[in-house]
Amino acid sequence: MLSQDPQFYVDGVLAGNRRVLAKTITLVESTHPEHQRLAMAILERLAPHTGDAVRLGITGVPGVGKSTFIEAFGMQRIAEGLSLAVLAVDPSSTRSGGSILADKTRMERLSIEPDAFIRPSPSSGTLGGVARKTRESMLVCEAAGFDLIVVETVGVGQSETTVASMVDFFLVLMLAGAGDELQGIKKGVLELADAVVINKADGENVRPAELARRQYENALHLLMPASAHWSPPVRTCSARTLDGLDQIWRLVGDHRERMRVSGEFETKRRRQDLAWMWDLIEEGLRARFRRHPGIRDQLPRIEREVAAGRLPATMAAHRLLFSLDSEGAVYKE
Ligand code: GDP
Repeated sequence: MLSQDPQFYVDGVLAGNRRVLAKTITLVESTHPEHQRLAMAILERLAPHTGDAVRLGITGVPGVGKSTFIEAFGMQRIAEGLSLAVLAVDPSSTRSGGSILADKTRMERLSIEPDAFIRPSPSSGTLGGVARKTRESMLVCEAAGFDLIVVETVGVGQSETTVASMVDFFLVLMLAGAGDELQGIKKGVLELADAVVINKADGENVRPAELARRQYENALHLLMPASAHWSPPVRTCSARTLDGLDQIWRLVGDHRERMRVSGEFETKRRRQDLAWMWDLIEEGLRARFRRHPGIRDQLPRIEREVAAGRLPATMAAHRLLFSLDSEGAVYKE
């Protein structure tokens, strides 16, 4: 039985109680209207306790070594006395093919650590829906006092852009060899990167990894850095031998320091919050628009007309928008 009292969850989360934390995230992820209302009340009370964690996003193609990396990297941070939560954004989990990130047994050592909390990707809805839940779960984890939040994703559709927009530092993991050098450039993911790291730089792969590192470095030089205070570096590491993992954590720290000193840290968080607000507004308006009786009745017919080429899209959109009543019925429930 779930408690109906938001304060029960707020107290539990703030006390760092794992069971209550997990239940709170279950509420956040639920699509049930009652649960959503309760989750909103909890989030509102937790809000003053959020914002202190280091928010780290990690992406890379399946097989690049994300779970191996996060486990090794996470264990190192725990050894230093930090705690971490690992969340995931995997829109593929909402498709019939099953999830890319959550299927295998992952991060076995980390998952039994008392200072780690691992939560697989929410598995309902669109990328927007999954991302929203992950973002809210991130806030809950921050309120629970985690020092580091890792948000993991795969390069499915827009998921990388979405994760980059909710973290302080976005790390792109890459592999050396076989055409991989261009995959990041194609997808525009390099433009989002605060650092690019070539993983699996061990054994015979050390040299190809170094070669790839230089190629990515050249590619990054051609891009305008997103920040005047940070040029994204390219490094190599091995999640297996642990070579280079410490320096990546130092990079995250250096970046944070520079962003704070320049004031960009705050600016970026505020910008992310504003963008987030608009995403939610747009999502809400769209849902209300579709539910509005005047629209609902006409929509299938108009969609058919447009699809059949009998009605221009512009005219269809105008007709639907103008059929809302003069007080702007879209704003009503
Ligand atoms: P993910 O799909 O990105 O989460 O990748 P995994 O962490 O599951 O790793 C995929 C495979 O690569 C596994 O067999 C790992 O053992 C292996 N792997 C991961 N990191 C390294 C590394 O640094 N060096 C080597 N040699 N293998 C690695």
